[in-house]
Amino acid sequence: MAEKVTLIPGDGIGPEVTGLAREVLDAADVGIDWKVIELGEPAVEKYGEPLPGWALDEIKKTPVVLKGPLTTPIGGGYRSLNVTLRIALDTYAVVRPAKALPVSWLYQDVPRYQNVDIVMVREATEGLYSGVEHFIPQSATKEAAIAAETINLITRRNSERVVKFAFEYARKFGRKKVTAVHKANIMKTTGGLFQQIAQEVAKGYQDIQFEERIVDNMAMQLVLKPQEYDVIVTTNLMGDILSDLASGLIGGLGVAPSSNIGDRYALFEAVHGSAPKYKGQWKVNPTAIMLTATLMLRYMGKTDKAELIEQAIFKTLNDGKKLTYDMARIRRIEPVTNKEYTQEIIKNLRQSM
Ligand code: NAD
Repeated sequence: MAEKVTLIPGDGIGPEVTGLAREVLDAADVGIDWKVIELGEPAVEKYGEPLPGWALDEIKKTPVVLKGPLTTPIGGGYRSLNVTLRIALDTYAVVRPAKALPVSWLYQDVPRYQNVDIVMVREATEGLYSGVEHFIPQSATKEAAIAAETINLITRRNSERVVKFAFEYARKFGRKKVTAVHKANIMKTTGGLFQQIAQEVAKGYQDIQFEERIVDNMAMQLVLKPQEYDVIVTTNLMGDILSDLASGLIGGLGVAPSSNIGDRYALFEAVHGSAPKYKGQWKVNPTAIMLTATLMLRYMGKTDKAELIEQAIFKTLNDGKKLTYDMARIRRIEPVTNKEYTQEIIKNLRQSM
């Protein structure tokens, strides 16, 4: 029987890329019964709010969610729906594999990136994203404020469980090393606590190598010698920034998958956002959300389907004839629309079924 999965199309480029991913998954006959729930801008238009309470109740009825990006108003407006969902579903570990693609032409200009195989594990429920922030004086508007404060909340419980998650992940997938990233030299309390907990947890995993890096050094190391890193675990904002950096190493946001994992729910979404300026142009790369969907299929135990789809994507990219604008720019050819690119993937998929 088909398994129910919630599909949140998102907004901006979200509905476009999730729609294309769904075409590929349906063509691969993955046995999923989609329950579509609109959030963000389409929900504001239909229901007057971006995340109606009933929608959250509905999402909680399926343990697995595939989600397109959702726009967050900048410098005001409603709180990030992405952060709200991660907290509501308690998907505390954002797991972002940055693995070089098996595409012969992709790393010709930057050969050192062809062996990149990093998994970034980012704490997702607290840190500088805890949402505890205010102007000073508290009642001031942005214009009248003399200062502003955001609380960087780091708790023992949440740090411990995310670091444990990283070590368990390393064990499960045969990885050798976990690197904890922090800024404990400057943020001696919050960074110091995270560092202390990482050291404590590491003692329970003598089979996995453990090391630490200060975040600024980590950023440079990732650009210069990314192949020295394996699993990286860090706090919310640092993980957000470093995982975009890691995406850049493997080909950009157009090809970077991601997942949000908790004990009860798993929500799968690409690293990229809603890229509003590209909305409706059928131009952006749907590979990121398609590879994200293959992470979801593996999580659901549908490994053969995940491999089938991955191979069709890799073949399409490796052939290098029909590419979306981001990849076409690297290959120095004329791009096609993402609809054409998707049709090529589906053609390759059908040939191997
Ligand atoms: P973005 O990731 O949306 O886009 C940044 C740039 O990356 C784009 O201009 C484009 O050049 C490139 N890009 C992104 N996705 C691509 C794709 N699929 N193919 C090819 N190129 C792609 O980041 P932003 O512009 O900083 O954010 C836009 C909105 O998205 C904001 O409201 C932000 O809060 C939100 N956002 C949401 C999520 C999420 O839903 N999880 C994640 C990040 C940002």
